[in-house]
Amino acid sequence: SIVVTGATGQLGRLAVEALLERGVPAAEVVAAGRRTEVLADLAARGVVVRHADYDDVTSLKAAFDGAERLLLVSGSEVGQRVRQHGNAVAAAQAAGVGFVAYTSIVRADTSTLLLAEEHRVTEQLLAAAGVPHALLRNSWYVENYTGQLPVHLAHGIAGAAGNGAVSAATRADYAAAAAAVVATDGHAGAVYELGGAPFTMTELAEVVSAATGRTVTYTDLPVEQYQQVLVAAGLPAPVAAVFADGDRGVAAGELLVEGNDLVRLLGREPTSLAEAVAVAVAGLR
Ligand code: NDP
Repeated sequence: SIVVTGATGQLGRLAVEALLERGVPAAEVVAAGRRTEVLADLAARGVVVRHADYDDVTSLKAAFDGAERLLLVSGSEVGQRVRQHGNAVAAAQAAGVGFVAYTSIVRADTSTLLLAEEHRVTEQLLAAAGVPHALLRNSWYVENYTGQLPVHLAHGIAGAAGNGAVSAATRADYAAAAAAVVATDGHAGAVYELGGAPFTMTELAEVVSAATGRTVTYTDLPVEQYQQVLVAAGLPAPVAAVFADGDRGVAAGELLVEGNDLVRLLGREPTSLAEAVAVAVAGLR
């Protein structure tokens, strides 16, 4: 079977859907997470649902039992993830999982992003465990931007990304690529740098303006000032610091992906920014 962790979250659910769309039988797919109550619809379709908590090795071993392959979706509890992912890797090893694909971040081995550290260590833990694996080094989700559409329409776009371009892609495209990697052979040892067509924040503003018929502009701020804007908007200081650091990374080209790994795994072009913005605009109505 193929186990997907984080199936209760957005990317993991899309990966489960992508596996089913590829024709993997539902009974061969295990959707794992903590809030398993949100997986009832998948269970009704024949998907196996299992409880898996990254802080509970016993639950992880049980969730991974009999699995040939595992899509390990990185957790969302920033600061806790080295221990948590370490538990998942150890459980995968103990359960005899034959292949693990892990959702990492662009060039995790050299990235200066604050968020990259836990991914870098997780990649090292996977290598040390000796489990055959592939790294899915995802750039940002385009939804990080389109999800802010109401804010952007009300206040314009603020950030600290300068003229840096980000190779953002939709969650659905990253999920389809991840499903391809766990559903087909030949990916052990692969390091995929995954992202869509790059765009700057000024270009994002232009696309949002064109899609809405409103004039939305991008205001670039120093990193510290952007962090203060995010705190003023209600984000906890540590979260604001991570977000502002992400923009520092975009400005420095840390979220820019070279090559065409995503296109190759998808077998098609990823969803464009204009298409993703159009979907978000339609969702406002
Ligand atoms: P979500 O927040 O929608 O989902 C996070 C998932 O992680 C949930 O399924 C959650 O399970 C699971 N999780 C968190 N902590 C634990 C834990 N201790 N034990 C078991 N499961 C846990 O995030 P997305 O689906 O949007 O993104 C997936 C991952 O990608 C994120 O977790 C994060 O690592 C990373 N990310 C990447 C971004 C990017 O732009 N590339 C942006 C944001 C995040 P449950 O709901 O059951 O608690």
